[in-house]
Amino acid sequence: MTGILGNSILEICYIAASITFILGLKMLSSPDKARKGNLYAAYGMGLAIVATILFKEEFSSEKTLNYVLIFAGLLVGTVVGTRMALKVKMTAMPQMVSFFNGMGGACAAVISLVEFDHVMHTGEFDLGLMIVIILGLIIGSVSFAGSIIAYGKLEGKIGDKAFPGSQIINILLLIAIVGLGGYLASMSVPSSTLLYAVLGISLLYGVLFVMPIGGADMPVVISLLNSFTGVAAAFGGFIYGNQAMLTGGILVGSAGTILTVLMCTAMNRSLANVIIGSFGGGGAAAAAGGEQGTVKEITATDAAILLAYASKVSVVPGYGLAVAQAQHTVHSLEKALDDKGVEFTYAIHPVAGRMPGHMNVLLAEADVPYPKLLEMEDANDQMANTDVVLVIGANDVVNPAAENDPSSPIYGMPIIQVLDAKNVIVMKRSMGKGYAGIENELFFHDKNRMLFGDAKDSLEKLIAEVKSL
Ligand code: NDP
Repeated sequence: MTGILGNSILEICYIAASITFILGLKMLSSPDKARKGNLYAAYGMGLAIVATILFKEEFSSEKTLNYVLIFAGLLVGTVVGTRMALKVKMTAMPQMVSFFNGMGGACAAVISLVEFDHVMHTGEFDLGLMIVIILGLIIGSVSFAGSIIAYGKLEGKIGDKAFPGSQIINILLLIAIVGLGGYLASMSVPSSTLLYAVLGISLLYGVLFVMPIGGADMPVVISLLNSFTGVAAAFGGFIYGNQAMLTGGILVGSAGTILTVLMCTAMNRSLANVIIGSFGGGGAAAAAGGEQGTVKEITATDAAILLAYASKVSVVPGYGLAVAQAQHTVHSLEKALDDKGVEFTYAIHPVAGRMPGHMNVLLAEADVPYPKLLEMEDANDQMANTDVVLVIGANDVVNPAAENDPSSPIYGMPIIQVLDAKNVIVMKRSMGKGYAGIENELFFHDKNRMLFGDAKDSLEKLIAEVKSL
């Protein structure tokens, strides 16, 4: 179907898709509706794709080859995406998000390259269009290169590689990108060579900007790259006059930016610091081991007694809880203690786990009632009245070095202040380090006892002991 009717149907489909994106995003803010929200947005995207194929006027007059390419692309994307999503473990989700985000950035950059080629052939050099094309290319390629490096780092395939002067090099690269991009847009006949130079420098900047980031700062970068991809996709929407793409891109861009700002606040970093790519890294303190004191262990039986006779217990969940897939088991412990009249809450650190909201999603999966999840500030306010804190598979987010060791790579990051509670029990498998790769003096503190073992196994033992009391 072509002509006015086809166009009108297409516009309506785009508006419908945009509405599903907004509704989906709204629903993502509450764990019990998040799954449905995700599906709504996916249906909206499906609708936009099908409507574009059926009703976009230009397509009907073009060669069949376009349809072959479109369906081949859809098929490859669907097969690869579905396989990856089905196979991925919950703990490897951030890597996958980073990878898919990188693909979004690459798409935006490719759209810019194709449109530049189109402009060169038609000779219609419009300043506004050139600016949008160049911005889409720069932001998309930075996002692509940065996300792939972030993927490699989260996957453990690439280490933190900081080198002296990297900050200055990054600033010079940024200046070069802006200068060359501006010059390219202002040329009466744009140069393809310059365009590829801008592409190359942007890719290099994406790599160098993420490469040195380590410590505990990856979440901020992932969220920032996510917003870059959104903005780059929105530029694609401008180029094609496509409302669904524009709305989707703006939503991703603004949601990513808000999340980045929230993460920066949570990690006590400035955004400028993130963009220059200077923070984190292993640092000298990362390797610090040395004399820390003695570690005291506790048995499951003694820990269960402490818990069963407490009035208030708080759990600090971390990455290890996700690794052990112990979300249902911790919920069972919560119910067992509930039966004994113990008040039970969860203290949620904003960057616990490996992705924003990781702990919320994990605990929602086990149907933990949402009001039991306390944000870090509230949890810290209540810590002094807490009898026992159970730190389950968390490490960096409870490391006191963030507050009292200026040489630590995580210094300045707010933490869950477990030492304010009367007793602390840390549940983990060994004295192994967390994501930031640093020692944790909490483990050696007088108030702390270690319950070694896989989080799920230890929780099962605790439940059995609590029930037998
Ligand atoms: P950490 O990575 O600091 O520590 C996790 C701990 O879990 C480890 O020390 C490990 O110790 C333990 N563990 C692993 N498997 C198990 C298991 N099966 N049973 C029991 N314990 C286990 O986690 P946190 O949640 O405290 O902190 C998150 C870190 O990740 C922060 O540094 C954050 O900045 C970073 N990060 C966060 C992202 C986000 O968006 N949330 C994204 C990227 C990074 P052991 O081996 O001894 O068992």
